[in-house]
Amino acid sequence: MDTMQAEQGNGGTSPRQSSCIVNGPIIVGAGPSGLAVAATLRRHSVPFTILERSDGIADLWTNRTYGRLRLHLPKVFCELPHVRFPPEFPTYPSKREFLSYLHSYTAHFSISPLFGRTVTRARFEEATSLWHVTAAADGGEVTEYVSKWLVVASGENAEVVVPKVKGRERFAGEVLHSSEYKSGERFKGKRVLVVGCGNSGMEMCLDLCEHGAIPFMSVRSGVGGGRSGVIGLQRGEVRGRQ
Ligand SMILES: Cc1cc2nc3c(=O)[nH]c(=O)nc-3n(C[C@H](O)[C@H](O)[C@H](O)COP(=O)(O)OP(=O)(O)OC[C@H]3O[C@@H](n4cnc5c(N)ncnc54)[C@H](O)[C@@H]3O)c2cc1C
Repeated sequence: MDTMQAEQGNGGTSPRQSSCIVNGPIIVGAGPSGLAVAATLRRHSVPFTILERSDGIADLWTNRTYGRLRLHLPKVFCELPHVRFPPEFPTYPSKREFLSYLHSYTAHFSISPLFGRTVTRARFEEATSLWHVTAAADGGEVTEYVSKWLVVASGENAEVVVPKVKGRERFAGEVLHSSEYKSGERFKGKRVLVVGCGNSGMEMCLDLCEHGAIPFMSVRSGVGGGRSGVIGLQRGEVRGRQ
């Protein structure tokens, strides 16, 4: 990171705060999008700083996805810029394969995100045309990163969204979000209601079946997608039959 750092007075009561001027864009998030932006900047010799709240790259794929996950889209649609998937990858690479690709990609472009930095605020100062991006480190220290450019790559699935379900407080069973689901193994013999019929919901139903659970699916408004092999149809065919 190419920065100039300065301590800010805080009266000794609040967490230690510092400020640094970043030479080049600030990128929030070290998921596939943030890495792709960083790689492209690297190729143009533009310095950058990635602020990532977790302790590694691709937090969604590493920590918030189920074990059997494969890319839901054919690999041709999911490659990051400048580096092809290895030719031996199947049409739908596994989560492990995709993650190994992302790790080699990161190493190939010498991308070193600042981990454990949660961005809590971004403010654009009109007078100076500068972004002021506040991030809290895991240890509590707060830093304001200042740059002319800000790239927000914090993801569309990075935050858990749990709808309010009437009567849920009276339900005595376990309720979990799909980001916490790893395998159907521990649901063997149990009846499980899967809410939502998108890619994840369908694949989890299949996984539950294969592990001897009894899944039911709640579908609000039709089939949302689905990888080939899950229900035996190509994605376009499913959409065409809605
Ligand atoms: C089950 C599942 C299957 C999918 N299959 C496919 C597929 O086959 N093909 C495809 O293209 N897409 C797929 N997706 C969509 C997924 O969004 C993309 O694969 C990809 O992860 C998007 O990358 P991203 O970098 O935009 O976001 P994310 O991968 O969500 O990365 C965002 C990063 O930003 C970090 N972050 C978030 N907030 C902050 C903050 N305040 N401060 C600092 N860091 C922060 C997060 O920790 C994370 O590392 C799938 C998603 C899921 C859940």
